[in-house]
Amino acid sequence: MSSEPYAWLDKSLAALHHAHRYRSVQVIDGMAGPTIQRQGQTLVNFASNDYLGLASDPRLAEAAIAAITTYGTGSTGSRLLSGHRELHGELERAIAALKGTDDAIVFSSGYLANLGAIAALVGTPDLILGDEYNHSSLRAGGKVSGATTLDYRHCDVAHLEELLKTHRASHRRCLITTDSVFSMDGDLCPLPAILDLADTYNAMVLVDEAHGTGVFGDRGSGVVEHAGCAGQPLVTVGTLSKALGSLGGYITGSTVLIDFLRNRAPGWIYTTALSPADTAAALAAVQIVQQEPERRKALWRNVNYAIHQIDQILAKTTTATLRLQRLPSASPIICLQGASAAAIVEASRHLLRAGLWVAAVRPPTVPTSRLRITLMATHHLDQLDRLGASLLHLTGQA
Ligand SMILES: *Cc1c(COP(=O)(O)O)cnc(C)c1O
Repeated sequence: MSSEPYAWLDKSLAALHHAHRYRSVQVIDGMAGPTIQRQGQTLVNFASNDYLGLASDPRLAEAAIAAITTYGTGSTGSRLLSGHRELHGELERAIAALKGTDDAIVFSSGYLANLGAIAALVGTPDLILGDEYNHSSLRAGGKVSGATTLDYRHCDVAHLEELLKTHRASHRRCLITTDSVFSMDGDLCPLPAILDLADTYNAMVLVDEAHGTGVFGDRGSGVVEHAGCAGQPLVTVGTLSKALGSLGGYITGSTVLIDFLRNRAPGWIYTTALSPADTAAALAAVQIVQQEPERRKALWRNVNYAIHQIDQILAKTTTATLRLQRLPSASPIICLQGASAAAIVEASRHLLRAGLWVAAVRPPTVPTSRLRITLMATHHLDQLDRLGASLLHLTGQA
């Protein structure tokens, strides 16, 4: 058998290496948390989406173990056939209550929730207008749907309106899609303005709260709550795998929207129901998000502390070849843009040697290379001080 048809794979990988874009997995040992073990070294973890520290909370573990003992490890079927347990219904009602919506539907992942919802809501005669920095799953949903897809400039409401003016009338339905917290930039979408435009131009809005849920809003419901947009006609997506410390995704909205998705979203109908353990852990997490607002408070204390410290360091930097610049993040995702992919990789290695685990995010994931620092409620201030000291050293001042 000839291997010729596969020869391009080697070349493609070589090109990735050459462009400093090659990536590989990293083994992390032991329990999730603000510190992790890697190759025998203890690292402060600034690369986790576990914002509230719930992935290691014993109450989630106990709930998951109890669910396995009661139901087994697998849910054994799709929701509409043999996979539905009372636990799924409980979780969906709890998520709807957290979000203040009529109903919710749980998917196997946030990625699948976006694919499923977008492909169900629009098709070839329709139009999707999405923020250019939207998450990969929103883009993938657009492709699967077959709808005409156009990007508007990042958070640029005037550009969105221009596209609506030019293109809306020649399409049946229109869906505007946006992250609520941009996952690789840490800034927030202009949701009230987007909703106003949607109202004017008869468009649906899908907002992805993957990094918003549990983090924003007095009740921890997300950016929709934080922006004063709860109760508006919205399709809200989220994940159970970030602040909620489990695995899975969901859509919340009106009774008719969720009922429609249960009948029309292939990514929900034709896949196995969420496992009992993941479902139970997520349910416990949703309850904790509501009962323990002090976790959110601790998270925001850390965010404000770190941003203040980083800005002071960067303001003093004059000589650095790195040219680190903080992007306008307004969330626990703090991004420091640098001069090049190679410089950012080297910077993250420097931080690693200092015992700090910070992700280097590069094209094609993002347009410009950056250090991506994510904070948790369970970080201690002295861990943030260590980050500050290392950044100071990195920028050539100490
Ligand atoms: C992580 C993420 C997802 C995917 O969620 P998973 O549950 O991990 O599949 C979707 N959208 C955004 C914005 C994300 O950051």
